[in-house]
Amino acid sequence: MKKTMYIDMDGVISNFAKAAKEQGNGNRPDLYVDYRNLEVMPGAKDALMQLNIDFDIFIASTPPWSRPECWGHKREWIEEHFPWLKRKMILTHRKDLLIGDILIDDSRWRGQPDFKGNWLWFGTAQKCLNWQDTLELIYKKYV
Ligand SMILES: [Mg+2]
Repeated sequence: MKKTMYIDMDGVISNFAKAAKEQGNGNRPDLYVDYRNLEVMPGAKDALMQLNIDFDIFIASTPPWSRPECWGHKREWIEEHFPWLKRKMILTHRKDLLIGDILIDDSRWRGQPDFKGNWLWFGTAQKCLNWQDTLELIYKKYV
């Protein structure tokens, strides 16, 4: 049986930081960024296609609670860029409640440190700075 893997969106497969910089300069970009127009992070498409062969992949993302339209926008974004992950998306503010083996996430504010499997701190932890690093680590350690 394939291991279960959860992958975050913003800062992991979608370039939230770039959009935040371009679309405004407030300190709460989650309150104004257009989630439909985020660029795909470098290497993310190929990485997920590869991982999809060896893992059961789900998207796990936290849309801003005060902007309900963003919940749908995130689904539209997945459909546009990762259509093969159709119906494999979980929107939650509690990533510690997800049951699985690996969580790839750049934030630690939604329960990530308490995830029962292995949390790979994307963009921050050594060896998980980008998709190339992260893939290397995963295939060395978890496959
Ligand atoms: Mg994130």
